[in-house]
Amino acid sequence: MIRRIKALFSKKTPVVTRFAPSPTGLFHAGSYRTALFSYIYAKQNKGKFILRIEDTDKARSKKEFEDNIIESLKWLGLEYDEMYRQSERTDVYKQHIEKLLSENKAYVSKEDPKDAEPGEERRSEVIRFRNPNKKVKFQDLIRGDIEFDTTELGDFVIAKSVTEPLFHFVVVLDDYLMGVSHVIRGEDHISNTPRQILIQEALGAPTPIYAHLPLVLAHDRSKLSKRHGAKAMTHYRDLGYLPNAVLNYMALLGWNPGTDQEIFTLAELVKAFDLAK
Ligand code: GLU
Repeated sequence: MIRRIKALFSKKTPVVTRFAPSPTGLFHAGSYRTALFSYIYAKQNKGKFILRIEDTDKARSKKEFEDNIIESLKWLGLEYDEMYRQSERTDVYKQHIEKLLSENKAYVSKEDPKDAEPGEERRSEVIRFRNPNKKVKFQDLIRGDIEFDTTELGDFVIAKSVTEPLFHFVVVLDDYLMGVSHVIRGEDHISNTPRQILIQEALGAPTPIYAHLPLVLAHDRSKLSKRHGAKAMTHYRDLGYLPNAVLNYMALLGWNPGTDQEIFTLAELVKAFDLAK
């Protein structure tokens, strides 16, 4: 299967990976593990590692969380080659939403604000994606082939207005425009992938190779989260942990080299690590 996936992306396609956090809270080791694996994969392939701050949700995104992410990556030594902030790319998104509207691949939908659920913000107009209602198939480096019928997703909303795009749209467009070849992220995003593939097809974008990583669990095997058992990365720094110890620990959560070696530097990880394992 892996050989088949590799064949999809020819040797000439440069490897570009990204870490795309939404700065809506303090990030924990589970999230930095995805950053670490993305970083390692880029370095192994002489590619590029991008940091993309996904701050289109103005109400929940905070500068202090962004600063904490940047500080943590610096402390861990995960240097990125490029950095973007989605809040600074509104013009780019607008242009492409208008194009989808003009091609009738998306439409302005008049909504009835009276139908809103309690607490839900319902607008009188949103931009919906015209769902072609089809089966999408994608290959995941870790999970294998995944097939999904998109009919049940309906015509989902991709933007509140041309200047207020939503998560699925900006992720897909940015991955496309930034040349991201491998999307390495937590498996909580698997269910988002079919929608995102439909958007890729509408934009004429290639589908990147996906690797959805098993999540790091809390003691009771529930999902580790900011509210449930997880501490910010900078907490460990402040307690005096060495960054290399933390990197080593994160790498061995869900991967092992198949030898007795338990201590790795970042450079050794870049040599030994195998994403498909
Ligand atoms: N911004 C998303 C998050 O923080 C990640 C998007 C992605 O990796 O595709 O969960």
